[in-house]
Amino acid sequence: MIGTLQATEAVKLILGKGDPLIGRLLIYSSLDMSFREVKLRRDRDCPICGEHPLITELLESYQTSAAPPVLTAA
Ligand SMILES: [Zn+2]
Repeated sequence: MIGTLQATEAVKLILGKGDPLIGRLLIYSSLDMSFREVKLRRDRDCPICGEHPLITELLESYQTSAAPPVLTAA
């Protein structure tokens, strides 16, 4: 279910259509089959989209063969 929602959001962003979940967090509860939406405010100190970003590009680093890729600051 969540994968379908994420794929739909990606298609909306690629096509520039609809109202994507920017600034909103969609919360899904499978126990009572409900959705809830929470507004998110931009964090001025965010290292990615804040006023002074520290992370400006995607880098993959592999610590060991078993470790997942980790995004690090440039
Ligand atoms: Zn951010």
